[in-house]
Amino acid sequence: MSDFTDFTQKRRLPAWLKRRLGSGEVFQHTHQTLETYGLETICTHANCPNRGDCWSRGTATVLILGDICTRNCKFCSVGHGKPLPPDPTEPDRVAQMAKTMGLQYLVITSVDRDDLSDGGAGHFRDVINRCRQVVPELKFELLVPDFRDCQDKAIGILAAARPFVFGHNVETVPALYEKARPGGDYARSLGLLQKAKAAWPETQTKSSLMLGLGETDEQVLAVLKDLREVGCDRVAIGQYLRPSKTSLEVAAYITPDKFDWWAQQARRLGFSWVMSSPFMRSSYHAED
Ligand code: SF4
Repeated sequence: MSDFTDFTQKRRLPAWLKRRLGSGEVFQHTHQTLETYGLETICTHANCPNRGDCWSRGTATVLILGDICTRNCKFCSVGHGKPLPPDPTEPDRVAQMAKTMGLQYLVITSVDRDDLSDGGAGHFRDVINRCRQVVPELKFELLVPDFRDCQDKAIGILAAARPFVFGHNVETVPALYEKARPGGDYARSLGLLQKAKAAWPETQTKSSLMLGLGETDEQVLAVLKDLREVGCDRVAIGQYLRPSKTSLEVAAYITPDKFDWWAQQARRLGFSWVMSSPFMRSSYHAED
């Protein structure tokens, strides 16, 4: 499909995937503020390679509803099991963190909470509402789970706290769901994005794909087309990097040129916001 050749190497990272760890005053301030308010981040739990960069710019993605997921995706390093009930103090702690850090844009995500009848949507709403009381100008981007059996209910609940961007990641191509995301369902994920767009046409919807799990170009292109079919406005495309020893192996390292090529394809398909590069994650430079 393209002229580019993927660089595949399983043992050593290619040069373009080397990143510095974080340090410096702003990084420390971010770290300390998150600790002070007892907040979890997906930056840490997913072993994100961008943590040094993001935290040094004073941004982080808050992980609400605990750090135990009810699913067990093979690309993810977040622990799984039986989560605790939502913490009623969390909305205020997130709000105070946003105020202390002087945030203007906040990305909030959560583990899957299939144990809750609303999938955790009520807690997302409570966090947003409390933040808006404390930092009225704050814009929100949500990166939500697929709300397995309660999509309509969740969208109804979130209507009271509509975010600027509503994100849900398809993560990979449907052919790899069984291997990478056994608790997920591709059609269900697309359905959530479609329902959100239908409910709130003015809210930007967003999704993200990891490359390097063994997908083909044709499969990726089909996913991009499917996302546009359900009205998805924004897309982030990045390299899968194994976050823990028990996670899936990397099947291929995709070259930066190839990521540029994917950005062109995505723009051609009509996405209004496209980020495609080896280190891209759905929350990386989300505020840009
Ligand atoms: S890309 Fe997202 S998850 Fe990674 S460090 Fe930045 S804000 Fe955190």
